[in-house]
Amino acid sequence: MLDNPCYERAQELLLSVVNPVSVEHISLSECGNRVLAQNLIAQENVPAFDRSPYDGYALRAADTALATEEHPVILQILEEIPAGAVPTKEITTGTAAKVLTGAPIPVGADVVVMYENTEFTDHSVMLVVPLKVGANIVRAGEDIREGTVLAQVGAVIDPGLSGTLAAQGIVNPLIYRIPRVAILSTGSELVEADAIPGSGKIRNTNRYMLEAALKRLGCNPVYLGIARDSIADISALIDKGLSECDAVITTGGVSVGDYDLTPTAMEASGAEILFRGVDMKPGMACAYGIKGGKLICGLSGNPASALTNFYAVAMPALKKLTGQSAYLPHEIQITLSDGFTKKSPKTRFLRGRLELKDGVVCMNLPKDQGNVVLSSAIGCDVMAVVPAGSGPLEVGTILKGFLL
Ligand code: AMP
Ligand code: MG
Repeated sequence: MLDNPCYERAQELLLSVVNPVSVEHISLSECGNRVLAQNLIAQENVPAFDRSPYDGYALRAADTALATEEHPVILQILEEIPAGAVPTKEITTGTAAKVLTGAPIPVGADVVVMYENTEFTDHSVMLVVPLKVGANIVRAGEDIREGTVLAQVGAVIDPGLSGTLAAQGIVNPLIYRIPRVAILSTGSELVEADAIPGSGKIRNTNRYMLEAALKRLGCNPVYLGIARDSIADISALIDKGLSECDAVITTGGVSVGDYDLTPTAMEASGAEILFRGVDMKPGMACAYGIKGGKLICGLSGNPASALTNFYAVAMPALKKLTGQSAYLPHEIQITLSDGFTKKSPKTRFLRGRLELKDGVVCMNLPKDQGNVVLSSAIGCDVMAVVPAGSGPLEVGTILKGFLL
């Protein structure tokens, strides 16, 4: 077991023990935001045939070489080709076909002219300027060329990928299952959020905070309930979480007080403790364990500490569990819009909101960054990392940050 590793080391350690969940074929309609578990290599050109991007006329550019206002070229219309139809006539010198958007280009034609740029009757079309070969034709394979690697295992299915899968006829892609992550709250002082807390009791906020955090990562939270401060109670819920879910998150009982029983309960459930504590603030108190390849994240009871540790330590491993290949946080440089008066003897995580100021990516810092102040996490979309040993921070300080 490691004591107080830095957060990068802690992330790495978790990533080394966690593997993606199993895979399943599901309907493409259900795939938005899910994670692709197959490589996608184009089997077909898209579009499959040369087609017209406009309503207009398909013809031979050479026929228009001498066209002017004074000497217009008049071509005979052989047929009309709507989208979905098949041309039946070859375009030869002096002829054209009327084409509608999406229609296949007939054999012999090498240019399309928009109808707005012509004068026409039902039988003929008149042109007054020369046209360039190839203009206004969407070529076969212009979007996707057969053999191109379009996406790889671990890609999140965004609108572009979903449509591209459909364009290849893949309506049942191989997808990672949604990981089920158990949440259990420990603490004899806790009541559920819909109860009126008696004296000395508090509402279980961590449950809902973590449910939202897990959903954002693409995990299904499975709430198991509140365990009193007893090794047997906590261990029983950890056992349930391990048997029903792919990972377990607990809050509370990971400091070093008399009632901090979660690490002992993890061991009672047969888990190996990977590390206790991380050298960071807030969110230092934590205990991470593993059993049978299933991660147990023991976070602090203090909501803001728990959330910071979740983002800084647990998140990459949980993203890896979902199958996402981009599980490491996207690092960015951020400029502080506000100062921060405290010193940072330890690595400190600041939560904030991204804003653009004169084209510079800035971070707006809520005043209170304390570990019991969850309300300042509302709307936060970025964390900044203050290096250990830093003094107070001035407005305009540039820090490494990552997006949530
Ligand atoms: P602990 O980590 O168990 O020492 O708890 C630290 C603080 O967080 C204590 O004040 C707890 O009452 C509080 N706390 C523990 N669990 C929760 C929870 N689920 N929701 C809100 N606050 C909690
Ligand atoms: Mg407690």
